[in-house]
Amino acid sequence: MSEHTETESISLPSSVQVPRLLGEFKGALNGPNHIFIAGIHGNEPSGVLAMQRILAQLEEIRPNFHGSLLSVSGNRQALERGERYVDIDLNRIWHRDANPAQPLAEESEKTALLEVIVPYMSSDKPTFFFDLHSTSSESIPFIVLCDSPGNREITEGMPVPIILGLEKYMEGTLFNYLTKEGFTSVIFEGGQHLAPSSVDFHESFVWLMLERTGALNNENIPNYNTHRERLTEVSGANILKFESVFRHALIDRDGFKMEPGFVNFEAIDEGQLLAYNSFGPIYAKNRGRIFMPLYQKQGDDGFFIIRETTD
Ligand SMILES: [Zn+2]
Repeated sequence: MSEHTETESISLPSSVQVPRLLGEFKGALNGPNHIFIAGIHGNEPSGVLAMQRILAQLEEIRPNFHGSLLSVSGNRQALERGERYVDIDLNRIWHRDANPAQPLAEESEKTALLEVIVPYMSSDKPTFFFDLHSTSSESIPFIVLCDSPGNREITEGMPVPIILGLEKYMEGTLFNYLTKEGFTSVIFEGGQHLAPSSVDFHESFVWLMLERTGALNNENIPNYNTHRERLTEVSGANILKFESVFRHALIDRDGFKMEPGFVNFEAIDEGQLLAYNSFGPIYAKNRGRIFMPLYQKQGDDGFFIIRETTD
C-alpha cells in the first residue's frame, strides 16, 4: 500500500499546443544519438515536463556532452486534450500501415513522428531511443524492455525494477518496432500520470541514462547523487527483474472495474479478488505481483501479473 498520496497534480499549459520538437542539444564531443519521446499517450504529461526541464539545464550549463539529444512529443492532439488517444492508441499501430485515404488522428501523428525518427535510423552513429510514460495507478517508477541484449545491457545497474516480456501481450508498440529494427530502446514509466513526483523521476531517469550511454560523466550531471538516490530510495527492495506471466485483456471494456486501492507491484495471492466485469468477479489465476492495474477509461489491458526472474 502507498505511504502517502500526493494531493497536487501536474498539467501542461492549456492555451498552447505542445510542439513536436521539445528541444535538441548537440554535444561538442563525438558520441551516440539519444532520442527521447514523451507523451505518446496524451494523458501522460510528466515526461514532456521533465524533458523541458532537462533541456533548459543543458542549455544553461552546456556540459561536455558526447553525442546529441533530441526530444519530441508523441501524440500532440491527445496531449492537447489530456486524453490517452483521440481515435486509436498511438502505441499499438507500429506494426501496420495506415489507410492513407482516411488517416486516423494517430496515423497522422505516427507519420509525423516517423519523419523525425527515420533519419536517425540510418545514422552512422549509434542511436538510443527512450519512451517516457506514466501509469493510471499509483506506482513506483520502472523500466520496460523488449528483450534484446542491447536493451538489457544499457539498463544494467539502473536503480529501478525492470519488466521483461510485456511485448508478447502487446502488438504494435513503437518500442517493439524499434527493437525489431535493431535499435536499443528503453521504456520508462515515471509513476502516476499527474503526480508531481513523476516529473522528478523522469528527470532522474534521463540523467542516469545519459551517464549509462556515455553522453555525460557523473561530474557533469547536475545533482547526480540526488538523482541516483531518488530512484534508489523509491524503488526500495524492488530493484529486481520481473517477467510478465499473465495479462487480463479487455474486449469492448465488458464492464471492467478494477478493485480499488491496488498499488503497482503489490503482492497478490492466487485466488485473490482483483476486479469485476459484466460476467462477475475476476480472481488472480497466479500468485505474483499486480502490475499496471487499470484505473482509467481508455486502455485494453485490465491488469498484468508479474513475477521476479533471475534470467
Ligand atoms: Zn503510456
